[in-house]
Amino acid sequence: MARTSFFARIGRLAELAFFPSFCKTCGRLLENPRERILCADCLDQIRLHRSPGCPVCGRFFDGAGESHLCGSCAVSVPSFSRHRSAGRYRDLLKDSILLLKYRKFRPLAAVLGRMAHESLRGEEDFWLGVDLIVPVPLHKKRRRERGFNQSEEIGREIGKRAHIPVVRNALRKIRNTPPQTSLDHRERANNVRGAYVVGRKNVIEGKVVLLVDDVYTTGSTLGECARMLRREGAADVRAVTIAQA
Ligand SMILES: [Zn+2]
Ligand SMILES: [Zn+2]
Repeated sequence: MARTSFFARIGRLAELAFFPSFCKTCGRLLENPRERILCADCLDQIRLHRSPGCPVCGRFFDGAGESHLCGSCAVSVPSFSRHRSAGRYRDLLKDSILLLKYRKFRPLAAVLGRMAHESLRGEEDFWLGVDLIVPVPLHKKRRRERGFNQSEEIGREIGKRAHIPVVRNALRKIRNTPPQTSLDHRERANNVRGAYVVGRKNVIEGKVVLLVDDVYTTGSTLGECARMLRREGAADVRAVTIAQA
């Protein structure tokens, strides 16, 4: 036993000497083989700020107070019946999403998916009756550039933990739209209108679908995806995101 751990330690030291890896946010050397991309301290610091919010769109309210229907949902109900974010798009949670999407640190998707599931699993009726997970798709050109779809990777982790099958290509993005971040509220809604189609109607028909995306800003992407799924026969559409801006 002692010999094994001795050689394991030598092996680990050699690995650190030849392939040192550092935490991508604080720069600390990752000594523990289970630490990947972010160190344990940084992971601990990711705060999932869950505060009172709208029970439908899941928009968090600033400050204290009770959850209640927000002004926007009171005027027009979104196509999804419920949306929840695991946390707010700020600090290390934001940094992690950016590292995943733009620096392509793909294993972070599993970390974020696990956090989202842990933070939301207590809300039992949100999960009740969900038949399948549908990740918000990327246009094939964008997917090719990135090498993966972050929402699909996050969805796979959530599916694994919640025991819900993930269906790829249930939705397809047929228009390569400009990034939503460059647009205001009204432009965002127009930008995504007609950008998604249901690719596998037989799979979603009569089903309760959980859409998964990385970031929620105005809800126009999720709204448009949910609208298409409902139009093609999904019984109910709910949505989960890692963070809301
Ligand atoms: Zn760190
Ligand atoms: Zn609302």
